[in-house]
Amino acid sequence: MNIRSAPRTLAAATTALLALGGVAACSDDAAGTDPQRVDVVAAFYPLQFLAERIGGDAVKVTNLAKPGAEPHDLELNPGQVGDVSQAELVVYLKGFQPNVDEAVEQNAGDRAFDVATVQPLRDAAAGGHEHEHEGEADATGEPHAEEEGGGKDPHLWLDPTRLATVGDRLAERLGKADPERAADYTARAATLRTELEKLDGEFTAGLKTCQRREIVVSHTAFGYLTERYQLEQIGITGLSPENEPSPQRLAEVIEEAREHKATTIFFETLVSPKVAQTIADQVGAKTAVLDPLEGLSTDGGDYLSVMRTNLQALRTALSCS
Ligand SMILES: [Zn+2]
Ligand SMILES: [Zn+2]
Repeated sequence: MNIRSAPRTLAAATTALLALGGVAACSDDAAGTDPQRVDVVAAFYPLQFLAERIGGDAVKVTNLAKPGAEPHDLELNPGQVGDVSQAELVVYLKGFQPNVDEAVEQNAGDRAFDVATVQPLRDAAAGGHEHEHEGEADATGEPHAEEEGGGKDPHLWLDPTRLATVGDRLAERLGKADPERAADYTARAATLRTELEKLDGEFTAGLKTCQRREIVVSHTAFGYLTERYQLEQIGITGLSPENEPSPQRLAEVIEEAREHKATTIFFETLVSPKVAQTIADQVGAKTAVLDPLEGLSTDGGDYLSVMRTNLQALRTALSCS
């Protein structure tokens, strides 16, 4: 055997074994085989929330992302790859977690439901915060875009109405996997839609009249939310959370925060607040949490309660009436 190819060969052999279910029993949270319930694997928290609310007690949901862990760069252990290969339905968002995408491609086949296919994703650069800054022409003449160019924005769950539509499609998929209970799934999706539309109404009303509309956030997770409620996000980092922005980016964000008289620099529960604190100190602002809900923090709650906390934080930061 060629030594160099050994790791890859070993990995392929492991994958094959897992596909047969030989190792899955070692996992603490293996999807298992409950004949009464549909085994669903969800790739991260908002998809777990949907599957649990719509599946009710007819499903057993395993979340691949652990509570309190940032899910973008999630790595799967062999037991979790086993869960993916044994699940009756895998709910994931292609383009959000590369390691999940790979495991799904290799092990889930047509049992996978990619929620990114429900509605077209927004372009990462669309609606980004861009404008000519009066009185200080940019030396390079380039528009100062806060977003990296290209690519799609995966953070669709931060628009409650989009999440409701994903829920409707998920109910259909569950109904195909478990036809006897299809009507239950449809009914629970409709109930959830009502709750999400109520939340949407609260956001619309609560953010209607505000003194400012720009929010300075840790990473640009809030594009769907800002688009829906006519806000603008200024991201310290881009579509993925990173610990350290470049010194140039830091200087730009400080300038933006000053120009838009930001009272609050937002940070996330699952990422260090250090950089947000640095910027806040520079511009004389406070820091506060704006939760992108990629995972639940250890404070608990659920999608609806965390979103309502987010709304209060936004209303305070933007001085909404
Ligand atoms: Zn993100
Ligand atoms: Zn600006």
